[in-house]
Amino acid sequence: KTLRKAVIAGNWKMNKNRAEAKALITDLKPLVADASCDVVICVPYTNLETALAATEGTNIKVGAENCHFEKSGAFTGEISADMLTEMGVEYVIIGHSERRQYFGETDVTVNKRTKAAIAAGLNVILCVGEMLEDRENGITAELVAMQTKIALKDVSKEELKQVIIAYEPVWAIGTGKTATAEQANEVCAIIRSVIAQMYDQAAADAMTIQYGGSMNAKNAEELVAQPDVDGGLIGGAALKAEDFSVIVKAA
Ligand code: PEP
Repeated sequence: KTLRKAVIAGNWKMNKNRAEAKALITDLKPLVADASCDVVICVPYTNLETALAATEGTNIKVGAENCHFEKSGAFTGEISADMLTEMGVEYVIIGHSERRQYFGETDVTVNKRTKAAIAAGLNVILCVGEMLEDRENGITAELVAMQTKIALKDVSKEELKQVIIAYEPVWAIGTGKTATAEQANEVCAIIRSVIAQMYDQAAADAMTIQYGGSMNAKNAEELVAQPDVDGGLIGGAALKAEDFSVIVKAA
C-alpha cells in the first residue's frame, strides 16, 4: 500500500450547471488543499471549462466522465480524447456501469476507449464490477477478472501507469448499499492478482485500485483503510463539498 498513492475521485454524473459547479469547487478548494491523496473531480463535458478555471493552481485535477475511441470524424454527439487533453483535462472515467447498462458499453468498447485515452495522454479511471445477480451466482471473481483483462488488452506495462482501476459493484452504486470493507478489499485484491498475472508483481503493487459504490463521509475511513483499497470513486457524496472533503481526509 505504501508503494502507491490513494486517489479520491468524484463522479458528478449528469449533475450541476455551470454556476453550481463553480460554487461547489469554490467550497471544496480550501477543504482539500492539504490532502495527502490525489483529488480528482470528473464533471459533465459542459462543466469542464468552468472546472479547469476554478481549480487552476490548486491540487484538484479535472476529469471527464467518458470519451470516444476515434480521434475525429462522423460520430455525432461524441467527444474525443484529444479534445479533452487540448482543454487541459487530465483524467477520464471509462466503462462506468451506467454507460455499460444504459448506453451499450461493452468490454470491447471499454478497451478501445481506454487505449484511445491513454494514447492521448489522459489518465484513465477504468471501472469494473459485478451485478447483484453475478455475485449471487458466485461469479464475481471471474467476471471482474474478465472485465479487467479485456479492458487492458494491448495496453503495455508502460501505458498501465496511466490507468487506475475502480472496483464498483453495480448493486452498490447509487443504492446506499455499500460493500463491506472485506468485500471491497477481497475484489480489489483479486483485481491486483489479475494485474500481476497480466504484467508482473511490480505493476500490480504500483496499481491504484479504488472502491466505488455508496462511499460516503461515514463509511469511507473503514473502506480506504483496507490494504488493497487505494481510495475511492465517489458519486452522490461528491456533490457536497463537506462530504467529499471528509472522504478525501480519510484517504
Ligand atoms: C459512481 O457513480 O461511480 C458511484 C460510486 O456512485 P455512488 O457513490 O453514488 O454510489
